[in-house]
Amino acid sequence: MAKVLIIGAGGVGAVVARKCAQLEDVFGEIMLASRTKSKCDEIAKSIKRPIQTAQVDADNVPELVALINEYQPDLVMNLALPYQDLTIMDACLATGVDYLDTANYEHPDTAKFEYKWQWEYQERFKEKGIMALLGSGFDPGVTSVFCTYIQKHYLDEIHYIDIIDCNGGDHGQPFATNFNPEINIREVTAKGRYWQEGEWIETEPLSVNEKFEQPENLGPMNIYLMYHEELESLARFIPGLKRARFWMSFSDNYLKHLEVLGNVGMTRIDEVEFQGQKIVPLQFLKALLPDPASLGPLTKGKTCIGCKVTGLKDGVKKTYYIYNICDHEECYQEVQSQAISYTTGVPAMIGGKMLLEGKWRGQGVFNIEQLDPDPFMEDLNKYGLPWKVVELDD
Ligand code: NDP
Repeated sequence: MAKVLIIGAGGVGAVVARKCAQLEDVFGEIMLASRTKSKCDEIAKSIKRPIQTAQVDADNVPELVALINEYQPDLVMNLALPYQDLTIMDACLATGVDYLDTANYEHPDTAKFEYKWQWEYQERFKEKGIMALLGSGFDPGVTSVFCTYIQKHYLDEIHYIDIIDCNGGDHGQPFATNFNPEINIREVTAKGRYWQEGEWIETEPLSVNEKFEQPENLGPMNIYLMYHEELESLARFIPGLKRARFWMSFSDNYLKHLEVLGNVGMTRIDEVEFQGQKIVPLQFLKALLPDPASLGPLTKGKTCIGCKVTGLKDGVKKTYYIYNICDHEECYQEVQSQAISYTTGVPAMIGGKMLLEGKWRGQGVFNIEQLDPDPFMEDLNKYGLPWKVVELDD
């Protein structure tokens, strides 16, 4: 029976631990390790099956190696922060254990995430005979699998992809982020970027927006063009692609707060001197904002994340929209988390399941676009993220 080491006991790590615990046949033994062990213990207490917990500093490779050598997992699932991707990959290389994450590496000093750092591990993972699965959350993750599913079953060639991430959830707080505030605000305040005909086109932060009518009478949303990491892997792995863009919905209230916080310097990521101490304003802001995990019992409404994919079938232009709708309150009932952590944690669990069951196997570093979408799509339906495909007129 397989053993899995989950690193990170935040909103997403908690969902992954709870979902893995539901599948004892696949995840025979589970250890949850994080910087603050008491958070792991809290989560463990809420799970009916016994799971082990441990303290680990995932910035410290020897500490990680010691923990992996002691526990001997078959897979390490990284649900800490993007800053820890490389150290955890180093520890997996040193111990010969497979690796999975949901977000690509980003250096703390520069708000720019890109795959090049992790793609550089390709030869070393191959030589060691182990596999790294990158980006197995919802976006990145499911959004890319949606595209490869459309590529496999509906179109001969994909030309245009628009990923549309809408969150109609309301947590009743004046301002809060749905996942780690530091990572979220770095992402949202960065310049927008999309891929077109082999080039990256840059836009000012949140300067391009559209109205999007959500399916199933969920209503209209204002969506904003942003850069998102799966654009880089889609551009690399979808042959014939002409354009890929990513859009996310924000409420006027969220944008107003973000603008003010930006104007007064609270979203800065460089160090400033404060009363003889150096602080990073965004990290200080994170300490003041609600913990995303605390939003679970408060959030009502639904997320709707999907991809509009246009291409050719038998020479005829076709557009498909493939999407999932997820209800915040139902997620809370099942795993005591809101839908953002849920929609990330479930695909992480399924990605881990794919590796442990041998449905996805390989040596080296893999983006999710490189793997067969079918077993993953089947499991999305089974484990809480059902999806639909509809054909659109244009
Ligand atoms: P949280 O901040 O809630 O949780 C992060 C956890 O990692 C915390 O438990 C934190 O510990 C732990 N951690 C941080 N640094 C270290 C370290 N050096 N050593 C050990 N543990 C550490 O974040 P989320 O759960 O919201 O997000 C987790 C990941 O999921 C992030 O990488 C995020 O980018 C990604 N994500 C991906 C999405 C997708 O769809 N692909 C969507 C949403 C998130 P402590 O409790 O001590 O602070």
